[in-house]
Amino acid sequence: GPEGILRRQSLRESAARTYARSLPIVPVRARGLTIEGADGRRYLDCLSGAGTLALGHNHPVVLEAIRRVLDSGAPLHVLDLATPVKDAFVTELFATLPPALAARARVQFCGPAGTDAVEAALKLVRTATGRDGLLAFTGAYHGMTEGALAASGGARDVRVTRLPYPQEYRCPFGTGGEAGAELAARWTESLLDDPKGGVPHPAGMIVEPVQGEGGVIPAPDAWMRRMREITETRSIPLIADEVQTGVGRTGAFWAVEHSGVVPDVMVLSKAIGGSLPLAVVVYRDDLDVWEPGAHAGTFRGNQLAMAAGAATLAHVRRNRLAERAAELGDHMLRRLRALAAGHPQIGEVRGRGLMIGVELVDPDGADRDDADRGGAGPDGADPGRLGVGRGQGGAVPLPAAPRLAAAVQRACLERGLIVELGGRHSSVVRLLPPLTLTDDQATAVLDRLTDALDGVLR
Ligand code: PMP
Repeated sequence: GPEGILRRQSLRESAARTYARSLPIVPVRARGLTIEGADGRRYLDCLSGAGTLALGHNHPVVLEAIRRVLDSGAPLHVLDLATPVKDAFVTELFATLPPALAARARVQFCGPAGTDAVEAALKLVRTATGRDGLLAFTGAYHGMTEGALAASGGARDVRVTRLPYPQEYRCPFGTGGEAGAELAARWTESLLDDPKGGVPHPAGMIVEPVQGEGGVIPAPDAWMRRMREITETRSIPLIADEVQTGVGRTGAFWAVEHSGVVPDVMVLSKAIGGSLPLAVVVYRDDLDVWEPGAHAGTFRGNQLAMAAGAATLAHVRRNRLAERAAELGDHMLRRLRALAAGHPQIGEVRGRGLMIGVELVDPDGADRDDADRGGAGPDGADPGRLGVGRGQGGAVPLPAAPRLAAAVQRACLERGLIVELGGRHSSVVRLLPPLTLTDDQATAVLDRLTDALDGVLR
């Protein structure tokens, strides 16, 4: 039974398990937004495979695409050989890319995870430029392998220069908004142009257009354009990590479209595989400096993932699900912001499209001491008492509240709603529902979240 499975998992699997700790359920069936546990309970799944399931669980077009490959007798494992399935996937992928990139795009299949594509992108720009240094941002998340980890906020690598990622809330400059974003851009310029102690010749810059794991922090469009201008004028390749933001999630097919920025390199995974593992790096042809075999890997070209991915990309594109995500996301943000107005412990509600975050804060110092509110934070991390202020003048220092966020996640689960936690202090409740969410489903998600927040925040 489910209890035995959970017990054996906790005994046999590594201590590194994360989701399984905070979500002690045993899914046995799933469709669309809904997951059913072995105990027969049903949950609305707003974790969506950490943002992977653009069409939700087991969407008929995805299942049909997979079945078609299985029934055709096509080989499932072909390294990087040419196949009709791959051809169809690449054609569909290129049809979605920003036209300026699509016109000159090359794709390298990596495999099979997002972090592999990040590694490939870093290696590519280092090879192409003959340089080593990398510009990355505070709060970034790019994966768990060495290079991707080094580019993520918090990890260290002498080759990586960490630059401030702009944010309205907890703005490092205490200004918030556009002013803070412009200061962050000037900091970047001053580092690049400083011959003494700066980083005049990096190999590339890697950026998430919306930080996901970092706590759902959308980069202002003007700042993204500044990063493009800064890198372009200095011939520094710009890598957009769209592993989480891609395929309609943020209300545009690719999140770079919001700013109109055309990156030199795009790192793609998660939703492009239609729920199966698939990762690619796409780049402009003049960066295609690799010798044959320079970037190999056994699991490039999973036929089932390409078929599921092509079906997903086509379905999102034809049904304008990015526009739908934008509309629905705005509606959900409005309702959550109205709710936040009545709860001082909700520091900020933010997001773009169906990538939504609710940051819990600690206005009265209760989060650290009051064990009833939720026990230890998910990673036992310091709650991040940075003393940094709210944006817009930095008037109100509100520490992050990871325990409260964990309590909200538990309260959601009790109400049959699965949400993720994120943010540098694990204080952000994250929603990544499928783009196929109906109005009624959105209402059900919001009702349950509201009830959970009302219950925990009282
Ligand atoms: N980049 C971003 C922006 C991500 O959100 C993630 C995963 N959360 C990754 C890279 C790494 O992908 P994977 O977990 O598939 O290695």
